[in-house]
Amino acid sequence: MHRNRRTRIIATLGPTSNTFEVVKSLSDAGADVFRLNMSHGTHQDAAALHATVRDVEKETGRPIGILADLQGPKLRIGVFSADKVELVNGQIFTLDMNDEEGNLDRVTLPHPEIYQAVQPKTELLLNDGKIRLHIEKVEADKITTTVLVGGELSNRKGVNVPSAILPLAALTDKDKKDLDFALELGVDWVALSFVQRPEDVQEAKDIINGRANIMAKIEKPSAVHEIDQIIEVADGVMVARGDMGVELPMELVPAKQKKIIRHARRAGIPAVVATQMLESMIMSPVPTRAEVSDVANAVFDGADAIMLSAESAAGEYPIEAVSTMNRIARTIESEPSYLRMLDKDEATPEATTADAISAASKQVAKTIEAQAIVTYTGSGSTAVRASRERPQAPLLVLTPNISTARRLALVWGLNCVYSQDAVDFQDMIDKACKICNEYGYAKLNDRIVIMAGMPFGTPGKTNVLRISRVRSHHLKS
Ligand code: PEP
Repeated sequence: MHRNRRTRIIATLGPTSNTFEVVKSLSDAGADVFRLNMSHGTHQDAAALHATVRDVEKETGRPIGILADLQGPKLRIGVFSADKVELVNGQIFTLDMNDEEGNLDRVTLPHPEIYQAVQPKTELLLNDGKIRLHIEKVEADKITTTVLVGGELSNRKGVNVPSAILPLAALTDKDKKDLDFALELGVDWVALSFVQRPEDVQEAKDIINGRANIMAKIEKPSAVHEIDQIIEVADGVMVARGDMGVELPMELVPAKQKKIIRHARRAGIPAVVATQMLESMIMSPVPTRAEVSDVANAVFDGADAIMLSAESAAGEYPIEAVSTMNRIARTIESEPSYLRMLDKDEATPEATTADAISAASKQVAKTIEAQAIVTYTGSGSTAVRASRERPQAPLLVLTPNISTARRLALVWGLNCVYSQDAVDFQDMIDKACKICNEYGYAKLNDRIVIMAGMPFGTPGKTNVLRISRVRSHHLKS
C-alpha cells in the first residue's frame, strides 16, 4: 500500500501526459508530485491538468503534490530580417535597443536592465549558451561584442548574463498572472525561476502569503553564491541544472548540486534535482548508462526529489521514464552504503523539542527495530524535521490537513495519510497502530515509534515520543 522508496519523483505534465489514464499510470509507476510548467500551454491547459491530478488522487487515495513552475524573467533577443544569421568567431556583433529587424551585424536586445548591469570584459551568452560573446563596450542602449564562439542564431533566442545581477523584479507580469491563476487552482508548491537574491523569494512569499510553499530554482551564479540566505526564506530549492549549466561552466554543476543538497538538508528544507536526468528516454524506452548513474548519484547525494521534464511531458515513454527512476531509486536505497552515506552527512539537531524528539525517534526505532516512525503534524514542520534525520525506519505522517499532506509529498521519506487528529493520548496510540497496520507498515506484535505534540492540535508542540506494539484490538477498532 505504501511506497517502498524514500526519494520522491516529480513528473512534469504536458502533451503526452494530459489524460486521466496516463496521469494515473504515472502515479502508479511512482510519480509523487506533478509539475505544471507555466512556460508552456494556456491557463485552460493548466486547469485541466490540475483537475486530472486531483481525480487521480481521489482514485488512488494517496495525497499528490502539484508544483506550478513560473517562467520567470526569461531574456530574449529580437528577430532577424532573414529569420536567422550565422555568426563567425572573431567578428563584431552588436546588441541594441533599436527595434528594427536584425542582420549579421546587430540584433535588438529589448531589455534596458541589461545595459545598466553588464560590464566590458565579461560574457553574454545566447541560444542556451551555444553562442558566446565577449563584451567590448557598453553604452546606454548598445552593447558591442566580439564573437568568441559563433554559430547559427535565430529569432527570439534566449540570453543569459551570468556575470551580473540584473535589476529585474522577481516576478514578471506574466508570472503574476500565472501565479494568481495557480493559487486559485490550489497548487501546493510554486517554483520561482531565475532567482537572483533572497529578496526575490521574499517578494513572492509576501504575495503568496502561505497559500502555497515556495521552491527557489537555483540556476544563477548569484543564487549559488547566496544559497544559505535563499534557503532561509524558501520552503524548498531546485537544482535547475538546465540553466545552471549555461550560467556556470557545466563541469561546476555536479559540485554545486552536492553543495545545495547538503545545505538544504542542514537547514531542513527539501532539495530537488532537475533536468536531463533521463533525457534519452524522450525518444528511447531505455536510458543510457550515464543517465542511470546520474539518477543514482542524485539519490546518493540525499536529494529529496528527482524530476522529469520533457521525458514525462512530451516524450514517447513517460511511464517508462517514471518506472526507471523508481527502480533506480529503490535499488540505490537498498544499498547498505546509502544510509551510511546519509548518516555521514548528518545534520546536527537544533535546540528545539521537535529536533530532540526527531533525533531520538530515529535512534529508538533503530535500537528496537521498530517497523515505522509515526508523526502527527498539522503544519508539516515536525514531519520535515523528522525527515531531516533520514531515519532507516519508514516515516508515516498523519495529518488532518490535506494541503499539508500534498505539500509534504516531495519531502524525503514522508508517507502522508490524511487522518483526523487524535483526541487523547490513547487515541493517538490506537490510530497510529491501526493506520500502520492498514497501510502495511506493521503487523500484529510489531513495534512502532510515535511522535506527537500535547495538547493535541497545538502547532509547534512536538513533545511526546511513545513506543507502542500493534495489538489485536488495534486491528479490530
Ligand atoms: C532548469 O533550467 O533546469 C529548469 C528546471 O527550468 P526550466 O525547465 O524552466 O528551464
